[in-house]
Amino acid sequence: MNQDIKDRSVAYFSMEIGIDEKICTYSGGLGVLAGDTIRSAADLKVPMVAVTLLYRKGYFRQRLEADGWQREEPTSWAFDELLEEESARAQVTVEGRTVHLRAWRYDAQCLSGYVVPIYFLDADLAENSEWDRGLTHSLYGGDDHYRISQEVILGIGGVRMLRALGYQEISTFHLNEGHAALLTLALLDEAAKQAGRKSIMAQDLDTVRDHCVFTTHTPVPAGHDKFPLELARKVIGERDDFFDLEGVLHEGTTLNMTYLGLNLSRYVNGVARKHGEISRLMFAGYTIDAITNGVHAAAWVAAPFRELFDRMIPSWRQDNFSLRYALSVPRNELWDAHMQCKKQLMGLVNDETGVGMDENILTIGFARRAATYKRADLLFRDMERLKRISNEVGKIQIVYSGKAHPRDHNGKELIKRIFSAKNDLKHDIKVVYLENYNMTLGAIMTAGVDIWLNTPEPPMEASGTSGMKASLNGVPNLSVLDGWWIEGHIEGLTGWSIGEPVHGKGEERDHSQDAPSLYDKLEHTVIPLFYSDRGRFMDMMAYSIAINGSFFNTQRMVQEYVLNAYYNR
Ligand SMILES: *Cc1c(COP(=O)(O)O)cnc(C)c1O
Repeated sequence: MNQDIKDRSVAYFSMEIGIDEKICTYSGGLGVLAGDTIRSAADLKVPMVAVTLLYRKGYFRQRLEADGWQREEPTSWAFDELLEEESARAQVTVEGRTVHLRAWRYDAQCLSGYVVPIYFLDADLAENSEWDRGLTHSLYGGDDHYRISQEVILGIGGVRMLRALGYQEISTFHLNEGHAALLTLALLDEAAKQAGRKSIMAQDLDTVRDHCVFTTHTPVPAGHDKFPLELARKVIGERDDFFDLEGVLHEGTTLNMTYLGLNLSRYVNGVARKHGEISRLMFAGYTIDAITNGVHAAAWVAAPFRELFDRMIPSWRQDNFSLRYALSVPRNELWDAHMQCKKQLMGLVNDETGVGMDENILTIGFARRAATYKRADLLFRDMERLKRISNEVGKIQIVYSGKAHPRDHNGKELIKRIFSAKNDLKHDIKVVYLENYNMTLGAIMTAGVDIWLNTPEPPMEASGTSGMKASLNGVPNLSVLDGWWIEGHIEGLTGWSIGEPVHGKGEERDHSQDAPSLYDKLEHTVIPLFYSDRGRFMDMMAYSIAINGSFFNTQRMVQEYVLNAYYNR
């Protein structure tokens, strides 16, 4: 390490971090965003350190039965080969027991060598009880009791571990979603101790608030992390000095991690403009800004485009804004790079499924967590119309992927419905569902399809980031106007919209018109353009990179955090 990594002013806390495909400590969008944030912080030399949990058993490996029913298989990964063990130890109290913690380090490094260290907390030590040892084994792997215990380790254990490791200069703790909000309790204790007291008092709130920044990611109240007071008191301890503080308990009855973050942070933001608006409606009385998410450009641009950009836009890795010069890249070069990506995906699809997809057919991609609000089956609402469009207007083929949360029964049913549609369409349209969606598959899919489809029910998609990966690889989006796409959409230039935009909180929006609108767009616009006006389709590829790739990246996003959140006080 060529700089003093202990001299850090920003500590980034996240329940999941997806920094490398071999480090299986992420489940989806939140973790991938965290990883991309850290990479860009390293690129920009932001003095950051990151904290998460180790999850020796990762998330899970998805197997799909013949009818599409999801089975979760355990996984493991070589954490002891990929991470560096630290000798420092920290302790937290869980249900009155002392839980000892160790940390493993991974250095996220940028081209110039600047490092952002990530510490993975590990409770699997011989000193701990069997149950406690398992607390850092699985990501989202248990009930509320398991989860709040994990959050004690992440939040409180994380702060104590940073101190034990020698981090004394941190002026900003960034809570990436509410899971980390218990770090405020560790900071309150520090403030009380500093003042020579044993218990926390109201004036400590201001001290702590001055040091915290909170990013909320969920546009629906049900999605917010919260715990019954009784459980919280049991796990955290009878800390009346904490629980009785004004603003700690939501409505006096639950420990709501979002409200804890809101009440104890000097700066709060949502993850897209629209999500900021929705959050301000949900949490009236709080000042909530918006910083639109991004993806790490160099990490998500496929090799053929990396080579093309290196040749035509040499500064693009250091300066993502320069991707706007994709407008002057010859269209045939864009197309050749795209076809290389598409061939790679077709090869993978055909190897895995034997379905015989054809690289000359318009290929639509859809991959994300199988949650019902994302409506992966919207495309199948009118099977006869879909068949007619493919048979009469122009052939399409469709590549799906995505895991359902292990306890999301409706999400699992959704995958089954895709399988059943796949079967019904088998003589007309080739549909595949690739198993075990992860970062590697995400990269191959977002670059290898011709159109990236997204169909969330507004206003449920806070931001969404897979469409940004598609844009960077010259793949136009066909998407409902929600999350980031409200900002990235220019009809006929960067992609196409589905249905009407969302107004207010979205209750009055007529979601039933989305499927007809999707068919109309495919039938009258997208398919004719792809097959009959390839020149304009290639222009759209260039605009996707130039307009959206140059902006919806974590380099621009981290710069906004630096300007508006970290050092603006
Ligand atoms: C990018 C990515 C996501 C997030 O995609 P959304 O469009 O936000 O749903 C989820 N999982 C993986 C593996 C990804 O690479």
